[in-house]
Amino acid sequence: MDEATTRTLTPTRLPDRAGADRATLDALLDEVLVAHVGFTSAEGPLVLPIGFARDGDRLVLHGSTGSRWLRVLASGVEVCATVTALDAIKVARSAFESGMRYRSACVFGRCTVLTGVEAERALEAFTDRVLPGRTTEIRRSTPRELAATLVLALPITQWSYKSSDGFPEDPAEDRAGDAWAGAVPLRTAYDRPVPSPDLREGIAVPASVRALAVPPTR
Ligand SMILES: Cc1cc2nc3c(=O)[nH]c(=O)nc-3n(C[C@H](O)[C@H](O)[C@H](O)COP(=O)(O)OP(=O)(O)OC[C@H]3O[C@@H](n4cnc5c(N)ncnc54)[C@H](O)[C@@H]3O)c2cc1C
Repeated sequence: MDEATTRTLTPTRLPDRAGADRATLDALLDEVLVAHVGFTSAEGPLVLPIGFARDGDRLVLHGSTGSRWLRVLASGVEVCATVTALDAIKVARSAFESGMRYRSACVFGRCTVLTGVEAERALEAFTDRVLPGRTTEIRRSTPRELAATLVLALPITQWSYKSSDGFPEDPAEDRAGDAWAGAVPLRTAYDRPVPSPDLREGIAVPASVRALAVPPTR
């Protein structure tokens, strides 16, 4: 948490699970591809998912200039962007003690609009974040495409982090019983790439995709 704030950045419940250094935060932000961004819209609270990339000390978001909620974010309203990595299901001897292993973070602040070369650079950073090296394999965005894209930056200044690890903490009377307890780790993995139905024959799977996925069949 880098910046003085009046916001509560430590959970009331299990505060020992909260807090991290910036490197730990960055590792989570560099692993997770989707953020859920919440703000107060004219119609009430709204939280929507969006792909994002960390670009140094900011999160970069983008979408259509016609997007209603992105235009609200562009106006500088307060937002909270939450990212979550679900690592395991904790199976306790009771429903009460069951839970999840996770790492999660909230980044608070106001978005600014990036334009021109800065916007183009941020979009390239996003593309290479999702598929490292992809920008070297494809054409540059056209001025028309760039004009149709709203690029937002959310500074990483106010943030909180929380994680849950380990195993269920069942009380002694449950540990004496016959119910199984443990954890079931969970991971997200890429599968074989599937060529588009309209892909011309003879076009090989590019290096960026090969690096990401298990070996393709074609
Ligand atoms: C995958 C997953 C599953 C979860 N399942 C449950 C569940 O079933 N029941 C449950 O009670 N809780 C669950 N949590 C934890 C939940 O997100 C809250 O941390 C928890 O409910 C504590 O709330 P609180 O009232 O203490 O938080 P508050 O006191 O309201 O939080 C104060 C501040 O702490 C920070 N903070 C709180 N929680 C988090 C967080 N998770 N990540 C980052 N910053 C945070 C925020 O800055 C917030 O403003 C889950 C979290 C994850 C990621």
